[in-house]
Amino acid sequence: MKYISTRDNYRPVPFAEAIRLGMVPSGGLFVPEKIPELSCEDLDHMVGSSYRETAFLILQEYLTDFSEGEIKGALARAYNSTNFDNPEIAPLHKLTSGQYILELWHGPTAAFKDVALQLMPHLLKKALKKLDVKNELVILTATSGDTGKAALEGFRDVEGIKIIVFYPEQGVSKVQKRQMITTSGENTAVVGVEGNFDNCQTQIKNIFADKEFKEQLQQSGFEFSSANSINWGRLAPQIVYYFYSYAELCRREEIEPGALVNITVPTGNFGNILAGYYAYRMGLPVKKFICASNDNNILTDFMQSGLYDTDRKFKKTISPSMDILISSNLERFLFEITDHQSELINEWYNRLLRTGKFEIDQKHLTEINKIMAGVCSREPETKKTIHHIYQKYNYIVDPHTAVGIKSYQKYRAKSGDRTPVIIDSTASPFKFSPAVMEALEGELKTKDEFAILKKLAHKTGSSIHPGLQGLETEKIRHDRSCSVEGIKGQIKEILRL
Ligand SMILES: *Cc1c(COP(=O)(O)O)cnc(C)c1O
Repeated sequence: MKYISTRDNYRPVPFAEAIRLGMVPSGGLFVPEKIPELSCEDLDHMVGSSYRETAFLILQEYLTDFSEGEIKGALARAYNSTNFDNPEIAPLHKLTSGQYILELWHGPTAAFKDVALQLMPHLLKKALKKLDVKNELVILTATSGDTGKAALEGFRDVEGIKIIVFYPEQGVSKVQKRQMITTSGENTAVVGVEGNFDNCQTQIKNIFADKEFKEQLQQSGFEFSSANSINWGRLAPQIVYYFYSYAELCRREEIEPGALVNITVPTGNFGNILAGYYAYRMGLPVKKFICASNDNNILTDFMQSGLYDTDRKFKKTISPSMDILISSNLERFLFEITDHQSELINEWYNRLLRTGKFEIDQKHLTEINKIMAGVCSREPETKKTIHHIYQKYNYIVDPHTAVGIKSYQKYRAKSGDRTPVIIDSTASPFKFSPAVMEALEGELKTKDEFAILKKLAHKTGSSIHPGLQGLETEKIRHDRSCSVEGIKGQIKEILRL
């Protein structure tokens, strides 16, 4: 299996090269040249398979330059009871008849990004060995919260790779900050930046593009890579839980094998839902994907009108991981929907760069609408949903998951579609405990996030997610901070250049 560029501007590369590079150096994203299709026997086989076995069945189709032992070794290091607090890795919670919540937050940092980031570093390490890369890889990440800690945990103590995370000092929650600055591991560094996330992100992008700096790194034996969802190495592991949860519904006899399901995904950068779409193209019986957005509903508008228009106000919400106006992975989806017409992708994305918007034609919009519906949940609706789901089902969801549930309910009411639905739950409610507690109980007397965590634990009668326990007393290991202009200097200091 080779990976090609969505913009037809690079040679086809094997998986190892795609994961090393992260994105196509000349712009564009790597996608598989052909989507592998699974047979009915493969699907039947999954009904009797564990998470790791299912992961192997899927990944062997994409990592054809890796041996069976290499894939299985990486899977064993990622998906085990040290890293995940549930033996099923991604357990399915039945909310009510025909509605199931896929809990993707049982990994070390309480957000769904762990599922990919626990595995990806092991694959990357193997890839570097295969390609005989002599340099030490330096993962540079700017984070608005969840990605930073998930990447730190994944790359912690992975040989031959260093990771440096930059976060906006004022832009993350107290719990998120504490999660990051208490990270152990000799190869990790965390730096607070005076500035917002966009400033951090832009500066990091500039550093990636800085040729002189790149040469200086080379001479010292380093090279940069990235760990965000534009890297195919993060997407492939996410295809797995769509098959696993479908097989689980068959195991429990909630559906007949082969029956159609709907899938709802709270969406930001479009990575998670795209992995679902690849699962569908591989043979998963899906009727409709519900692409759920919060008040930053650019995708909802796009799927209704065909116009992708970034000229709008950025809104801060209680589901911050979905506060995004440019969903990078949409490019991959459009490449697939247009049957690999890279001329169209080039045209649309050049226009986006120049004018901040592009519009697709009616034919391709119809294609999209056949398989996907864009729906959004407004801030007050999201809060009410957290409250309502608790009242009705005694189950507490985080704000991102609540956006998914509300969007699904709106879709169902409008379409009358009663197909069984899997709704992705992307974070533990503990990770966003102030917003959750406020939705449940009204305005809070305390602003202390650690006190609120304990209150939530008391209310649910369950213990605080292991990744968030004892954070307030844990040793602080990282105290670096800098201005936006100081980011490059910090990198030099950390790498002793
Ligand atoms: C990252 C994230 C999302 C968005 O996922 P994408 O793959 O970027 O669409 C949703 N919810 C949570 C909690 C996240 O951390």
